[in-house]
Amino acid sequence: MNLHHPQRADGGRTNRNEVGRNEVGRLEVITGPMFSGKSEELIRRLKRARIARQRVACYKPDIDLRYHRTSIASHGSQTHEAETVGNVERLREALAGQLDAIEVVGIDEAQFFDDGIIPLAVELVHLGKRVILAGLDTTFNAEPFGPIPALMALADEVTKLSAVCMVCGAPAIHTQRLGASQELVVVGAAGVYEARCRACFKPYLDENESQQMEFPAIQI
Ligand SMILES: [Zn+2]
Repeated sequence: MNLHHPQRADGGRTNRNEVGRNEVGRLEVITGPMFSGKSEELIRRLKRARIARQRVACYKPDIDLRYHRTSIASHGSQTHEAETVGNVERLREALAGQLDAIEVVGIDEAQFFDDGIIPLAVELVHLGKRVILAGLDTTFNAEPFGPIPALMALADEVTKLSAVCMVCGAPAIHTQRLGASQELVVVGAAGVYEARCRACFKPYLDENESQQMEFPAIQI
């Protein structure tokens, strides 16, 4: 009975071909604690986009010293090429040169960018890009981390992954800091962080903790 309802069937557009490049994009956020598989999920989505013959660009802040400097890596063995950028302005410049040539923008470790990443992501979406950001939602003190909460609020889709509590095996939403490393930023360092559930999580009490973990993107 409602089968012949063309205005509804295609969202009110009379000709899909006319939509083309003016179609708005999409903002996806992949978040959760360390060891929850965020990078792995980002890599999976980027690879699927490539299989669909979409052109993909991937970026990460210049502080992830884990494994490779020119790719993103999950704690498993998955990797994907990524351009390292020092801050949001550098990211904006890197994108400006190839915006017409890409359809999907992946950003890993997005929590380390400053709040400028928020309007940039929204701009990209309005330019028709699919933007996929992966990043920690909370610090090791269980506080919302940098721009991620706002990006989650603005996203079309949020995937909040849990890790496995390394004490009891329950689903884990927290990143537990172990010991008192003096490193300003320790990313992906095994033995320094663990995933923990609510019951096993113990907020880190060192007075310097926010300086150590909530370090903004390196300024050049
Ligand atoms: Zn636990």
